[in-house]
Amino acid sequence: MNKIRRAALAVFAWVFLSATLCAGDVKNVIWVIGDGMGPEAMGFFMQGVRYAGLEEFPGKVSNLEKLMNRAQWGLFFNNTYDTVVTDSAASATQMATGQLSRPEMVGVDHNGQEVENLLELARKQGKAVGVISDTYVTDATPAGFTAHVQNRNEKMAIARQIVDFAPDVVLGGGLKYFSTGENKKLLRQAKKKGYRVALNKKELAGVKSGKVLGLFADTSLPMSLEMNLYPQIPSLTEQTQKAVELLSKNEKGFVLIVEAGKIDWAGHAHDAGAWFHEMKALDELLGYLTAYADKNGETLVYLNADHDTGLGAFAYRHVGKEKAAAKTAQGEVLYGGDADYASFETFRQFAKQKRSLYNLEMELKKMPAAKLTPEYLQQRLSEAMGYEVDISQFENLSDVSGLFAQLNESRGLVWATINHSSLPILSVAYGPEADEFTGVYHNTDILPRMKNVLGWSDK
Ligand SMILES: [Zn+2]
Repeated sequence: MNKIRRAALAVFAWVFLSATLCAGDVKNVIWVIGDGMGPEAMGFFMQGVRYAGLEEFPGKVSNLEKLMNRAQWGLFFNNTYDTVVTDSAASATQMATGQLSRPEMVGVDHNGQEVENLLELARKQGKAVGVISDTYVTDATPAGFTAHVQNRNEKMAIARQIVDFAPDVVLGGGLKYFSTGENKKLLRQAKKKGYRVALNKKELAGVKSGKVLGLFADTSLPMSLEMNLYPQIPSLTEQTQKAVELLSKNEKGFVLIVEAGKIDWAGHAHDAGAWFHEMKALDELLGYLTAYADKNGETLVYLNADHDTGLGAFAYRHVGKEKAAAKTAQGEVLYGGDADYASFETFRQFAKQKRSLYNLEMELKKMPAAKLTPEYLQQRLSEAMGYEVDISQFENLSDVSGLFAQLNESRGLVWATINHSSLPILSVAYGPEADEFTGVYHNTDILPRMKNVLGWSDK
């Protein structure tokens, strides 16, 4: 009798589980795109948190690592219709529409024809939709999900199309595209369409229901390591929390796109400290999203990137016999007598960094050459880095860009390019039906998979 009862229970459990886990069970999708976040940026951050003993991470495990240990991974390519390397516009377009496109094109296929995107499809299904970017909302990545133009530079047209399409939540930078020139009256039009406009953290907090258009800077929001200078700007996590609060009021669910957009900028600038801090801002967001998905049970969190930028990493370097002798005298062990294998101390330096090196470089370049004495440069660099930088061994100090390159080199940091690379991209899916996103695929395969998990496919 016991055996029969156990067998009956097992069958019942199986039927119940099959019914609850069938395709189309995802109600909400929160899709986080790390712009320029190649797998090496993820590894770089997690390794720093694990091994460098950073004050900010006493537990030595990042939210990213925790998420990845519980999630389903995939690897995908992002080539366009006829190019190996992509940009954010083509990549966002291909991910949002499932169609091949070309670099710089937004929301159109490789022939320039408009294609329906994920948010448009979601709205047809009665879902609430939102888009967030910590750069500006008219930038290529969010635009791929909200607009259709031939070139990403048509930012004014993109802004008008965003208001026209009217996602329930639009948050980020880019106020000037909604309030100047030909778009002078665009905010007024947005209000007519039911939007509450929020220009700072306090105004955003005051929005409790309905549509919100939050524009917290004229152009881009600041680099994450300089965010403390702008307390009126909500963080990426705060913006996402508000978006989820508003979008989740919709009974049919929601689709939210969140871009962590400045990982790309740090990569272009070869600024590993800024890279670290952008990943840290993303990590805070992932902590919130993982907890939300756990509690909610019907939300799929999908993390990926549009492309890699910079292809940066540590590499060992031969420091020369003289420096090697000095280092060995200090008690350091150097392989082969003169190879420096890079130190975890460098991660601790990243954590202390206070300014974007790109911003500092631009500032120094505008100053009269006479002011740029070795003492002054050393002082400014030390302030920015948050520790005493020694530039006494650096050469040709009048070349400011060269100075930053030497700073990287002195710490064993190498970058393959100042542009985007074709490095394949990691995807991390967490929540119901996350296994739909495993394996090796292409970024045009993401939309069909999203349709499957949301139950919109014919199959
Ligand atoms: Zn880029």
